[in-house]
Amino acid sequence: MTTETLHAKLKENFGFEKFRPNQEEIINCILYGKDTLAIMPTGGGKSICFQLPALVLPGTTIVISPLIALMKDQVDSLKSNGINACFINSSQSSDEQQLHIQNLKDNKVKLVYVAPESLSFLENAFSQIVVSLIAIDEAHCISAWGHDFRPAYTNLGYLKNRFPSTPILALTATADKATRTDICDQLNLNNPKIFIASFDRKNLSLEVRPALDRVKQIVDFIRNKPNESGIVYCLSRKTTEELAEKLQKIGIKAKAYHAGLDNKIRSKTQDEFVNDECQVVCATIAFGMGIDKSNVRWVIHYNLPKNIEGYYQEIGRAGRDGLPSETVLFESYGDVIQLQKFASEGLNAEVQLSKLERMKQYADALSCRRKILLSYFGELVSENCGNCDICKNPPAFFDGTIIAQKALSAIIRLQESEALPVIVDFLRGSKNASIYDKGYQNLKTYGVGGDISWYDWNQYLIQLINLGYCEIAFHQQNKIRLTPFAKKVLFDGEKVQLTTVPKLKTETAEIKSA
Ligand code: ADP
Ligand code: ZN
Repeated sequence: MTTETLHAKLKENFGFEKFRPNQEEIINCILYGKDTLAIMPTGGGKSICFQLPALVLPGTTIVISPLIALMKDQVDSLKSNGINACFINSSQSSDEQQLHIQNLKDNKVKLVYVAPESLSFLENAFSQIVVSLIAIDEAHCISAWGHDFRPAYTNLGYLKNRFPSTPILALTATADKATRTDICDQLNLNNPKIFIASFDRKNLSLEVRPALDRVKQIVDFIRNKPNESGIVYCLSRKTTEELAEKLQKIGIKAKAYHAGLDNKIRSKTQDEFVNDECQVVCATIAFGMGIDKSNVRWVIHYNLPKNIEGYYQEIGRAGRDGLPSETVLFESYGDVIQLQKFASEGLNAEVQLSKLERMKQYADALSCRRKILLSYFGELVSENCGNCDICKNPPAFFDGTIIAQKALSAIIRLQESEALPVIVDFLRGSKNASIYDKGYQNLKTYGVGGDISWYDWNQYLIQLINLGYCEIAFHQQNKIRLTPFAKKVLFDGEKVQLTTVPKLKTETAEIKSA
């Protein structure tokens, strides 16, 4: 099909003037009948890659998609463009399902969205129609190497045998090599053509902040943007609810969203968010896949994400319209500990732990964050981005040897048996129970760091951990203990370079408690 015809179709059916990178190439590949793997960042425009061919090809396109919310959104938006599409899944009554199946058999449907577990149920209908394309959205769900493995996806390998002459298009925003190969293998793709779009989303600013006082920081952040909507991603359902409640109490239109909530409530929240009636959604990662809201202006991570793929996908929900959008990630050691525990108990523990380690390295980075992200996705960039916190505010180093010596000595005096907050209290000469109950006020080095704030001490200790002089004993109440390298600082005159701690913004808003 000529470039002109494709552009005309794009304009006529979707109202877009031009293709985004790789869309046209992918579409041509499918029209040529080839199996294809399309890797594009969230918001890159994957849907057009199968929706447009579906209109051009005779017969019906089957779209396999993991989430019911995602199907409904896409079908609604196709219908509003005058395209005959439907979804069939377990959320519908059997009458409704039968109606769609009849339409399907009558060749009235160009795109049918189904969940992988519904495929066998539709086998009879499929045997009576021409299936001209199979699109598998969120294809990384098939791979246990990926970050969102779904067992129902593992059966999809049969599709190639069942429809040997139908091209398959697998789509995902997950680019790591192992997952990529695994997707092609498991789907039995026939010599697939692989497209990898650039993952650079220049309009997203990147920032990482220490998680101290995060609720207050979030409140300040939102209050500075009264008309801009955004998502706060939290690790636990409980946090989403607590945070939403706190925000509501100070008059911010916020809602919680997680997989444990009733379907009705969830789709209501989703609709309100899309229609700008709800400003902030405090959500677990269950929220976002397939939500087509182009003007999400910011994404905050209340907790450290499990891996860079997930993080990138989640921040990618901001700024799909291409306008400047902000992202903030809060990093806390508590989160790291909890995530390490999850990862070590889950599937593929080794892989997941090393992915978490990369995530942590990103958060601790002292050089351009975008470079780190893009290199993770296999893209080499020579220029610093100018739109991340490190580029905007390069860290300044200073001789922190004395600070390091004080901290490491304190850890020894406390017999490597205390967690970070007590060490800071001890250094600062606090008079609270965690010190007095154990008589720590009588030990040497008590109070030697009274000139440095609580916050700064926390940051310096974290830096010392990152530099490898001390470590957290994760399986022993997070006690801080020294590593063999500490000796060099304490006894061999090794100098320690620390970075200055950025000042916390603490102008506005206290949260009134209930
Ligand atoms: P993905 O599935 O890759 O996350 P979508 O297919 O949902 O991305 O597309 C993201 C947004 O970009 C949608 O709002 C979509 O309408 C828009 N979009 C897709 N292709 C184009 C294009 N060629 N021109 C302009 N906007 C586009
Ligand atoms: Zn940068």
